[in-house]
Amino acid sequence: MNIPRTDLPRVVIIGGGFAGMALARKILKEDMQMVLLDRHNYHTFQPLLYQVSTSGLEPDSIAYPLRKITRSSKKCFFRLAEVQSISAEKNTVHTSIGDLVYDYLVIATGSKTNFFGNDSIEEHGMWMKTVPQALNIRSLILENLEQATITEDPERRKALLNFVLAGAGPTGVELSGAIAELRNHIVPKDYPDLNPNEMNIHLLEGLDRVLPPMSEHASKKAHEMLEELGVKIHLNTMVENYDGHLVKTNTDLAIKTETFIWSAGVTGAPVKGLNASALVEKANRYEVNAFNQVNGYENIFAIGDIALMKTEEFPKGHPMVAQPAIQQGKHLAKNIKHLIRGEKLEAFDYFDKGTMATVGRNRAVVDLHKWKFSGFLAWFVWMFVHLWFLVGFRNRTVTFFNWIYNYVNFDKAARLIIRPFKGQEENMRMDEEKV
Ligand SMILES: Cc1cc2nc3c(=O)[nH]c(=O)nc-3n(C[C@H](O)[C@H](O)[C@H](O)COP(=O)(O)OP(=O)(O)OC[C@H]3O[C@@H](n4cnc5c(N)ncnc54)[C@H](O)[C@@H]3O)c2cc1C
Repeated sequence: MNIPRTDLPRVVIIGGGFAGMALARKILKEDMQMVLLDRHNYHTFQPLLYQVSTSGLEPDSIAYPLRKITRSSKKCFFRLAEVQSISAEKNTVHTSIGDLVYDYLVIATGSKTNFFGNDSIEEHGMWMKTVPQALNIRSLILENLEQATITEDPERRKALLNFVLAGAGPTGVELSGAIAELRNHIVPKDYPDLNPNEMNIHLLEGLDRVLPPMSEHASKKAHEMLEELGVKIHLNTMVENYDGHLVKTNTDLAIKTETFIWSAGVTGAPVKGLNASALVEKANRYEVNAFNQVNGYENIFAIGDIALMKTEEFPKGHPMVAQPAIQQGKHLAKNIKHLIRGEKLEAFDYFDKGTMATVGRNRAVVDLHKWKFSGFLAWFVWMFVHLWFLVGFRNRTVTFFNWIYNYVNFDKAARLIIRPFKGQEENMRMDEEKV
C-alpha cells in the first residue's frame, strides 16, 4: 500500500462520505498518521444525486476529490481501495490493494440499497446510491423518451412513457417531482412528436402518506405539491414484483413500464470480520456506545449511517441522514485526540437541526422543530442549506449558477446521453456492495 512506517498512532478511516470526511478534516493536523480508504476517489453529495438523474446537474458538481483533503498534510494518505475484511485480533484491514495495520480503526462505510429480499426488483429495477447509478437513470430516462418518439406501437409507447417510483421518502418525492418537471417543461420543447399527457409519473408508497419520516403537515403539503405537478400517488401500495416490463403490486394496480426506480430504503453496509455481536442484524448496522466504539472493541469505531447508537430519544439509533454522520465524524475527532493524550472520552449528543425535502421549483417542505413551513420560503431554505453543505467552493459555485440558469430558463441543461445505459448487469456491477 506504500504507507510509510511511523511511530505516530495510525488512524485508518474506511469511507470518505459525510462521516469519514468530517472526521478526516478535523484530525489532519494532529500528531497521528491518518489513512483514508474509499472505493471511489471522490466524496458523493448524495442529497443531490436525484438532480444528476434528472439532468439538472452535472455529476462533477456533486462529487469532491478525496485527495484534496489529505494533500494538506504530509502525515495523511488517501488510497483508492475496496476494504474486504477486518482482522480485529491482528489490528489489520484487508483491502483490494493489500493489508494495513491500524492503531485505531474507524468504519464509516454508510449504507446500501435495501431490496427487502425482493430479487426481481434487484434484478430489473434501478436504484440510486452512487454517481454512476444516477447517470444510468439519466441515460435510461432520456433513451426511453427517444424510443417513445420512434415507436409505432402505442402499447410500447405507453410503457416507455410510464415512470414508476417505489418509496415516497425524500428520495422518491424529490425524484418524482423532478421527472414531472422534465415532463412539464422540457418534453414539450425537446420532443414535439410526443404528447406530454401520455407521459405518466407514478409514485407508489406502502404506508398511508408520502414522506413518512416527516411531520403530517409536511406529508400533506408534499402530497398536494406532487399532485399539482401531475404525479400520480398510490398510497398503501407495495410493489411485489417487477420483471423488467410490468410492476405488480399488492393491490389491483399493475403498471407497464420500462423505467422502474426503487427508492424504498437503505440498510447498513458493514465490512466482514467483526464478531456477530457487533452487528444489529435487522438494521445491518454496528451497535456503538456513546463514544462510537463498536460493541466489543476498544479501538474500532463506527460513525454515520453504519453506526447504531441507541439513546433515550433514538432507541432505534439516529436517522440515516447526513447530520448525524457529520456530527459523529466531528465528535469522534475530539475523542481520538483524547484517547491519544490519555484523556477521558466525551459522550456524543446529537443536535437535530430538522428535516426538509424539495418537490420541485418553488416547492419544498421544512420541519424545524416547532416550525413547519412549505412553499417558496421552504424551497429557498432548502437551496441555501444544500449549497452550504455541498463540499468545495467550485461545486457550490457551479451548482449555484446551474440552478439560476435552470430557474430562469425552465431548463435542465445536462440532458445528455453521454454513456448509454447498458442494462441491469452494469447497474449491479456499479453498486457499492458489489464492486
Ligand atoms: C439518494 C439519496 C438522497 C439523500 N438525501 C438526503 C438528504 O436530502 N438529506 C440528508 O440529510 N441525507 C440524505 N441522504 C442520506 C445521506 O446521504 C447519508 O445519511 C449520508 O451519506 C451518510 O454518510 P456516511 O458517511 O455514513 O456514508 P456515505 O456518505 O454513504 O459514505 C460512505 C463511503 O464509504 C465508502 N465505502 C463503503 N464501503 C466501502 C468499502 N468496503 N471499502 C471502501 N470504501 C467503502 C463509499 O464509497 C462512500 O464513499 C440521502 C441518501 C441518498 C442515497
